[in-house]
Amino acid sequence: MGFSYAYSLKNNEVTLTNCDREPVHIPGCIQPFGCLLALNPQNLTVIQVSDNAQEWLNKAPGDVVGQPLMALVGEENATLLRTALEEDSIETNPRYLFSFTPHDKKLDALLHLHNGVLIMECEDADIPMSISREQAYSDANRIIARLQKSPGLREFCRTLSTEIRKLTGLDRVMIYRFMEDLSGEVYAEAKREDLHPYLGLHYPSEDIPQPARDIFRKIWVRPLPSVSYIQSEIIPLVNPITQKPLDMTYSFLRGASVMYTDYLKNMGVEMAFTLSIVVEGKLWGLVACHHYSPKIIPWPLRAVCELLAQTASLQLSAIEQNEFAGYRARLEESAQGLMEQMLAEGRELPELINLGLSGFMEADGVALLQNGKWHTQGAVPNQGMLQAIAEWVKQSFSTAPLGTEILHTHALSERLPAASICKDTASGLLAVPISRSNDRLILWFRGEVVQTVNWAGDPYSKKVVDSPGGERLMPRSSFALWQEKLRGHSLPWKALEVEAARRLRLAIMEVVVATSENVSRLNRELAASNEELDAFAYVTSHDLREPLRGIYHYAHYLKEDATQRQDEESEKRSESLLRLTKRMDSLIESLLHFSRLGRGSFIPEPVDMRELVEESIDILRASRAELKPEIRMMNSLPPAKGNPQRLRELWLNIIGNAVKYNKEIPVIDIGFDMAKNAYFVSDNGIGIAPENRSAIFSIFKRLHAKDQFGGGSGVGLAIVKKIVEQHNGRIWVETPQSGIGTVFYFTLNSENSHA
Ligand code: ADP
Repeated sequence: MGFSYAYSLKNNEVTLTNCDREPVHIPGCIQPFGCLLALNPQNLTVIQVSDNAQEWLNKAPGDVVGQPLMALVGEENATLLRTALEEDSIETNPRYLFSFTPHDKKLDALLHLHNGVLIMECEDADIPMSISREQAYSDANRIIARLQKSPGLREFCRTLSTEIRKLTGLDRVMIYRFMEDLSGEVYAEAKREDLHPYLGLHYPSEDIPQPARDIFRKIWVRPLPSVSYIQSEIIPLVNPITQKPLDMTYSFLRGASVMYTDYLKNMGVEMAFTLSIVVEGKLWGLVACHHYSPKIIPWPLRAVCELLAQTASLQLSAIEQNEFAGYRARLEESAQGLMEQMLAEGRELPELINLGLSGFMEADGVALLQNGKWHTQGAVPNQGMLQAIAEWVKQSFSTAPLGTEILHTHALSERLPAASICKDTASGLLAVPISRSNDRLILWFRGEVVQTVNWAGDPYSKKVVDSPGGERLMPRSSFALWQEKLRGHSLPWKALEVEAARRLRLAIMEVVVATSENVSRLNRELAASNEELDAFAYVTSHDLREPLRGIYHYAHYLKEDATQRQDEESEKRSESLLRLTKRMDSLIESLLHFSRLGRGSFIPEPVDMRELVEESIDILRASRAELKPEIRMMNSLPPAKGNPQRLRELWLNIIGNAVKYNKEIPVIDIGFDMAKNAYFVSDNGIGIAPENRSAIFSIFKRLHAKDQFGGGSGVGLAIVKKIVEQHNGRIWVETPQSGIGTVFYFTLNSENSHA
């Protein structure tokens, strides 16, 4: 134990930087409304004592340390204690065990065990109480019954403050409730009539530093009979069992932090008495009692108050749950409705918006992100801002503790300053990612609600004074009403809303999984039937060709016979039969080719699209020299990845059609549209009516009589479509800007395609 530690302990030196780490559980001193002994629980000898031993025990501290307890309290009491220890009935909560009279004062001994040390606190047994002990207990019963009947939260807290004030006779009893940001509000108050009300006032979170909160969560009662007490040191400072200063977390007499006493003095308070309200393991609030003159609350009365604090803690969680039971039920119902509709009708995620996602909870707007697209309803920020918020959400999740499912804030601009420009719509944000990668996201928004907060004194003015231990933070000295207009804040998200969003998220994820299972099943079935179809087409076309060849040969013989017989009629018929067979053969040939294309099975390689187009143009020019088409190609035709043979066939078909379906000299433009991320071929031909624009891609579909425009089998575009799809692309038709002709667009590789 170094000198500086002991020094700072003894002098209660708290500095600006350490006040949130102040070891308030080991102050090294006690308040003088009692006397403290630390004992070795094994042999019941005194190992530490407070330096006011003379006054209380009639012995100098040096004469107490090292003594057996028996010598101080008598044989009988020591046996009582030994039995209690054997029965394990002494725990961290101090328990009254016996009284003894070492001098002129009768003392009550309260004992507890903590960290292997037995702590005995002796208090005056004869402090006058305004009511008898029996009365106090029957009062407690009555109060508990009254509390149980209180309808709402506010009423409950009002009753609690009034009753505790009656019981203790203190000047002011406040129910102090913590907000989410750990600041506190006086939620209910009972006070002496002439006192100024504190009801509704807010106190910043720093007013109660973290170590104090940690202790309040563990203990139920904290007495401070006088803020201007003279502390009494523990001798020796270091406990011989633990080799550390005595841990007084659970001790009633524990010395108070100078920050705390200064704070109370600045408020003009002379005495404080605090009860903890702990709901579901969390410090919900405090029953903060102030008195304007010193006052000791005797331990029997403290025990009754403790009982009330415990009852209140239990009941508060039930009341809070009740308060929002209707809203909770509505949330659950609408979540269920949403999910049922999605499942039953196999809807896509974005449709949640239309199904009423915004009405799901009390929000001003909602935005849903899927596949890079936003779907919104109600008041939401613009797309750019949504994107920025989504990025921030993504980042926040990547640094959030594992298992974080939801992110919410009611002051977005404090965490993402860029969002201050859209605080009207997005001061509150509740973000729910649907997929691990965060590319599916639901964001609920709440607009700004300007609030006036009534602070007890300006929470931002911090006074610092020099002290031997460094700079010390002085509690503020003015508690006069200080109003703040709070901007950029929305109504906070209720715990039950966050919980409902969390559950909705799980439900949506289930639906998404179910739907994707469905889709992959359909895909498997489709693939199987496509394969069957291909196999069927291949077999039939293959098998049909043989008899067709036979028919062809017989027609040929018939024609020769007819020519020899000079039977013109039969000759014509046989010629027509030959023509039909040829046509049928070419149809079968196309079908065979189409089915041979198969599905998907090629290894993509880099393809120079420019080269393919040039080759296609050469082939066309050679085969249809008479048409003299004017074909213009953009300089920058980006390369692709895929199968070069199939892509050549694709170009050949599209450019071929552009030449073919034209009554003028064909003028054809070939290029790449950056905005659409698609290759295009536009012509000045006969155009395609909008109603036919999807039919043309069906196999054997032609819009013209078989002889018009040079004839054809109607398979070309079906093949083109198949090839585009094999390259994960899309093909569609538009009318060129000139209004004349047709333009075919196609994308390849969907991830960078026009969606
Ligand atoms: P085919 O050309 O063998 O008839 P396709 O499958 O290539 O078969 O085309 C289907 C139909 O689409 C054609 O019959 C034609 O009516 C129409 N078509 C195709 N390309 C064009 C175009 N560039 N301009 C106008 N019509 C076209």
